[in-house]
Amino acid sequence: MKFSLVADTLSYMENTTKRLELTQHLVDLFKITPHEIISKVVYLLQGKLRPDHEGIEIGIAEKIAIRALSKSAGIPIVKIEHEYKKMGDFGQVAAKVLEQKTQTTFITEDITVERVYDTLYRIAELKGARSQDMKMKYISSLLNDATPVEAGFIAKIITSNLRLGIADYTILDALAIAFTGSKENRPMLEHAYNVCSDLGRVANGVAKDGILSLKNFQVSIFSPIRPMLAERIKSPQEAREKMGPQFAAEYKLDGERVQLHMQGERIILYSRSLENITNYYPDIVERIDKSLHAHELILEAEAVAVNENTGEFLPFQELMHRRRKYKIAKAVQDYPITVNFFDVMLLDGKSCLNMPYKERRRVLESIIKEDSFAKIMPMKLVKTDGEVEDVLENAINVGCEGLMLKQLESPYRAGARASNWLKLKREYRNELGDSLDLVVIGAFYGRGRRTGRYGALLLAAYDEQTDTFPSICKVGTGFTDESLDQFYQILSDKITIKKDPRIDTGLEADVWFEPEVVIEIVASEITLSPIHKAAMDKIRKGSGLALRFPKFTGRIRFEKTSENATTVDEVVTLYNNQKKIVQDERQN
Ligand code: ATP
Repeated sequence: MKFSLVADTLSYMENTTKRLELTQHLVDLFKITPHEIISKVVYLLQGKLRPDHEGIEIGIAEKIAIRALSKSAGIPIVKIEHEYKKMGDFGQVAAKVLEQKTQTTFITEDITVERVYDTLYRIAELKGARSQDMKMKYISSLLNDATPVEAGFIAKIITSNLRLGIADYTILDALAIAFTGSKENRPMLEHAYNVCSDLGRVANGVAKDGILSLKNFQVSIFSPIRPMLAERIKSPQEAREKMGPQFAAEYKLDGERVQLHMQGERIILYSRSLENITNYYPDIVERIDKSLHAHELILEAEAVAVNENTGEFLPFQELMHRRRKYKIAKAVQDYPITVNFFDVMLLDGKSCLNMPYKERRRVLESIIKEDSFAKIMPMKLVKTDGEVEDVLENAINVGCEGLMLKQLESPYRAGARASNWLKLKREYRNELGDSLDLVVIGAFYGRGRRTGRYGALLLAAYDEQTDTFPSICKVGTGFTDESLDQFYQILSDKITIKKDPRIDTGLEADVWFEPEVVIEIVASEITLSPIHKAAMDKIRKGSGLALRFPKFTGRIRFEKTSENATTVDEVVTLYNNQKKIVQDERQN
């Protein structure tokens, strides 16, 4: 398949921000793509080679890309660097300089999707001393044969600058329309995606066998499952209303969610956002198999830092000391953990997703032999508010955040946030209560002590329906000097020249970012706002919702992607609950 078909689609998409149009361009492309290569097309559209959890990165340093372009275009490096400084977008530079070249030479060969993909894959695999030269040669030969438009996109992909905001959900919509004839079938595709977290695999199945491929979509080892999530509640009474006469109350530990895949001796650990985090936990890899009685397993656990002398659970922040590239062995020693298993999704080739909770719990208890390192999450069956209160009290006394309440008959609903799982945290029980996890979309330069850094950040919630990031507040408090420096560093990699099409706000920030960094915020209240776009028109025409007196809690949610941030629907629920409390108070 000619790569120009993909490049043309990307060009059309660059010129629109309307989701329906974006989807239609993708549908048109998918319909003419042979099913053997549709997974490659899907990955390339997102600037990837494989799903994120496989950790295969194209990873080309800007310097190499510039050298390659200089060679292909026959233009000195300094000239290209100059253009780059001026234009700020490597893709545009590549397109421009190659445009000048094509006016004087012939292009010999059409480049194909297969060639682009396979070359990039080979580049990603190159390691060692001579790899930089090899990379340069590969890129330069690709650029040599590419048209200026194609070269522009290849340049963007290799320098990780393909920022069209083509979200997973837009691709799922397009696949549903292209191969099942209707967007109505999207939930089936979504289910398949939730079970394997690999859009390429879903695309390949549905392009080849249509709906049939989705009906029996199977869990497979080393393909992480998107985690089941919980709704927040504020009181045991709410739990009873939602769950029926009896349910499970598990401790809610404040650590890191770990999805463990084990097959024989091979173990891979995935985070809440499905990043491979095996390197941070060599102790799990080394010690856990003693406690697990099966050959093949997918389990979920909360890894929690503990005080080895007292057995006391320590807060999440302690665990984050392990998120480092070097001296991991020392971090393992300094920050010991326990691994607290709470679910099982696969056992010796059989999926457990459709088993009811109580059955999965039974399986869990039968395959884990507890010791000082591997534990089964404490759980009690409860019926009354008093019983929930008692477990909550015990949980808080040993350092937990609160409780997770789980319906006994519920299957494991991959990727869903539903009322089969509820979270009851201690702090929910007062005022606005819960913190929100919001996406940093922009920033404003600081003044005074904050000159040269950001003075305030513009934050957004996630709108699942429209797949956008509508703004909800500007936050300038809660930052220490250290955290301001840290933000400046982290965010400098995320700066974009144009506002990402998925950002929706009435404010003009000094700097825009790719919507990727998620931070935790508390606030005193949610109010109506004409400027912020979260839940626009949902409560009142012409108004969105905004946070009043927002404050950064000090916690950057490294383990969350922006699609895992607090959703607009959750903000609306918080707003309505807050109104209810005020009304209740007035009545009393
Ligand atoms: P989300 O609900 O989206 O994960 P969050 O991380 O802010 O957002 P939390 O309020 O922290 O949500 O609650 C869910 C998290 O609690 C899980 O992702 C998991 O890491 C942790 N957790 C702790 N104990 C349990 C348990 N017993 N069962 C399930 N999850 C647990």
